[in-house]
Amino acid sequence: MITLQIDDKKVEVAPGTNLLEACLDKGIYIPNLCHLDGMEHPPASCRLCFVEIEGTDHPVIACKISVDREMAVQTGTPRIRRLQKTALRLLLSVHDVDCKNCPANRKCALQDIARFLSTALKSGHLDVFLKKVRIDRNHPRLDYYPNRCVLCGKCVYICQKQHQRRELTFAKRGFETVIGFFDIQDGTPAVCRTCHACAEVCPVAALIPKTEYPAP
Ligand code: SF4
Ligand code: SF4
Repeated sequence: MITLQIDDKKVEVAPGTNLLEACLDKGIYIPNLCHLDGMEHPPASCRLCFVEIEGTDHPVIACKISVDREMAVQTGTPRIRRLQKTALRLLLSVHDVDCKNCPANRKCALQDIARFLSTALKSGHLDVFLKKVRIDRNHPRLDYYPNRCVLCGKCVYICQKQHQRRELTFAKRGFETVIGFFDIQDGTPAVCRTCHACAEVCPVAALIPKTEYPAP
């Protein structure tokens, strides 16, 4: 076992443990959106889970650290909080904040993180850019809301994990990146088993089973 000093808590973890998982398992919350337990290759796309490790000059992304030695880790320094607020504002600069009309309201990861960071659900000084397509209804069983999606990739990961083939993928590039659907022929998806695992794991109600919340 390896000893970690996380803030004022001393914990023991197995070699190779993911640092973000180690903190969360021990009840030390670090904001995160794109990590799921057991992910072999976390995408680190949300850039929220910064920590400082003693002896390292710059803050690092905790989900990318595999514990291989004793470490002293700080999770809430002013530098960390500044980085996390900036990451949240970046996400909100491409997000349609409309909580009162959103099924995720009150169970939304963005709301939770904003509350944790004591900051508003606003992009601050950053301009807001929204995609032109408000709802993608091409899938027969799911609706997709590009301007809610934080591109965390959890839906892509869970679909692959449960069915070995993916119904979902990242499509397009840069600002235009969205989640797209594979293989829909004559309105029938080749892979989708209507398990709704993708919608369940989505932190922001960007993927919604058509039957649950018929789109307006
Ligand atoms: S996803 Fe969260 S922050 Fe965005 S509109 Fe819905 S409830 Fe609000
Ligand atoms: S649809 Fe939801 S789970 Fe999938 S990438 Fe977007 S926010 Fe993440």
